[in-house]
Amino acid sequence: MHTRIFGHRGAPCARPENTLAGFAYALDAGVEGLELDVLMTRDGVPVVTHNPTLWKDTTRTADGAWLQTDGPAIFDLTLQELRAYDVGGIRPGTDYALKFPDQVTVPKAQVPTLRAVLELVKAHPRQIDLLVELKHMPGAENQPEAEVFVTAVLAELRRAGLMATSYIHAFNWAILHVARQIAPELRRSYLSFERRDTRKGTLYSGSPWLAGLDVDRGPLPQVLHQDGAAAWSPHWSDVTAQHQALCDDLDLELLVWTVNEADQIRHWLDQGVSGLITDDPDLALALRQGEIAKDAVFS
Ligand code: MG
Repeated sequence: MHTRIFGHRGAPCARPENTLAGFAYALDAGVEGLELDVLMTRDGVPVVTHNPTLWKDTTRTADGAWLQTDGPAIFDLTLQELRAYDVGGIRPGTDYALKFPDQVTVPKAQVPTLRAVLELVKAHPRQIDLLVELKHMPGAENQPEAEVFVTAVLAELRRAGLMATSYIHAFNWAILHVARQIAPELRRSYLSFERRDTRKGTLYSGSPWLAGLDVDRGPLPQVLHQDGAAAWSPHWSDVTAQHQALCDDLDLELLVWTVNEADQIRHWLDQGVSGLITDDPDLALALRQGEIAKDAVFS
């Protein structure tokens, strides 16, 4: 089977991240999967947004003014309060604006509920794999209990009838362990980012993100396979040839993130990984279809 293309937070190269417009864009482009980030409001509603607090580079108040600083926290707002904010653009002049110069503004786009995103996916004629990332930090105070959070997300997946086509996806593997207890049938995708030199990461001996898994016990794919993982989702730079061979042997899916450059996309397509998570689904799909010549030059 060919490598599935997952739109990372939708298609932020073209539309605002984690918005209904962005997910609809990625679906229309032809992705097999979507990756989305989930947090919870104060009144217990799972919503789709990345940062634990509203981000000043992508958020405006109802009167159109950019936030001066980050905040408030998603978990401090009711759904109604959250929906007063506009997350349909990027503040000009920021690094994030430079990263996505072709992103089209979607005026008055709100943070969507998970339910609304699932309804969009369900209404789509193709079957779509969903990487539902639960944003939860080990030891953080201002967030729901893991059980409460996972239970609320599972209720939405069940309600939408999308359990069989979804993965629960998390850096905090305690979330995956809770999901394994409540819904063992739901596929679990273990996110990881190796800590190296000055790079902050989640993957190192004794890391609080690993829910007690001993990652020194053996090669990571083997450790995750023994833990019941359906998928391992590492940063692409953490993957070795030995990892890939083991994933193949163990039938552990390898879902690499976030792959945006043409040469990198080609590399991972050639490697035949199970899935490639990208901010630029148009480019990844075109490369996979061979619509862009091998020697094409990208500026
Ligand atoms: Mg994510």
